[in-house]
Amino acid sequence: MRVKALGMISGGLDSTLATKILVDMGIEVEGINFSTGFCVTEHSRNFKDEKKPLRPNEALRLANELRFKLHLIDVSKDYLPVVITPKYGYGANLNPCVDCRIFMFKRMRKLMDEFGAQFMFTGEVLGQRPMSQHRQALKTIERDSGLEGLVLRPLSAALLDPTVPEVKGWVDRSRLLALAGRSRKPQMALAKETGLEDYPQPAGGCCYLTDPQYTARLQDFFDHNGKANLTNEDVILLKVGRHFRFSENIKVIVGRNERENNFLKVYENGRHVFRVPEWPSAHMLAEVKGALSPDEVRRLASIAARYSDAEDKGRVAVEHLNGESAEILEVSSIEEAALEAWRI
Ligand code: SF4
Repeated sequence: MRVKALGMISGGLDSTLATKILVDMGIEVEGINFSTGFCVTEHSRNFKDEKKPLRPNEALRLANELRFKLHLIDVSKDYLPVVITPKYGYGANLNPCVDCRIFMFKRMRKLMDEFGAQFMFTGEVLGQRPMSQHRQALKTIERDSGLEGLVLRPLSAALLDPTVPEVKGWVDRSRLLALAGRSRKPQMALAKETGLEDYPQPAGGCCYLTDPQYTARLQDFFDHNGKANLTNEDVILLKVGRHFRFSENIKVIVGRNERENNFLKVYENGRHVFRVPEWPSAHMLAEVKGALSPDEVRRLASIAARYSDAEDKGRVAVEHLNGESAEILEVSSIEEAALEAWRI
């Protein structure tokens, strides 16, 4: 019988090594790369550094290198409730790692049937992540997703109970590894040994939900808009630009470079727009609940003036657009201290 394994592939070093171990054993591998909406590669952090290229999808790169089929699956809509109401709570930031794994493993269970795979595998390492990769969490995740005995973790398998593919002899347990803990040095040494050179830097961070700055913005959203109102559009916009909480009802997003300015222009609908037409300037959006007072409009315009090349030129003409209405205001740049107090 030809054995097929379905892998959860991020394309990072750990899933690269796990896949290589199974491919070298002659197991047929297919890969799944889930897109949650919170993955760094979807809207790379490199957004803020225009000189760096956007990060590629590493899973696709790996599938190409090791020659296996990879399925890119967008789960972002169904994933929002996992972030909003996680049964097992959050980690150090707003990362609901245990619920996230259960959500993905349940999907994997269905996909195994669809693709005719006998078991699934991951690049997880025992004890590497404090919330989801300790022994008890691994068991809870398997149990709650209906996958007991069917999840192989080739990098730590020798330290874990034998799984169905090992017991049935589909996989040679003696060729599985006994890695544990947070250090990535053994994986890097192994990559060198096996001639793997092209992999992303380990522990580079692949999920915005573990990023303190991103999760501060997400928490601000929860506090001011309510968790239940989070949409996929909000998830995207929280990744881009500088964010300022101006008041209970007003949040401001300011692009940091041309890449972000162009991106923000796509999201003008339903938001107030401020820009400085006569000078190079950042694109600025204001998310407003209710109506703006004339004083609030002027204060917001002064933020747009601050992020223009005319910031030190005294009075600056700032354009304010709100749906069909447009006006020009003459304002000075906002004071730095006020701005810093609003920064999220
Ligand atoms: S770090 Fe992010 S993607 Fe990884 S398990 Fe936690 S919530 Fe899920």
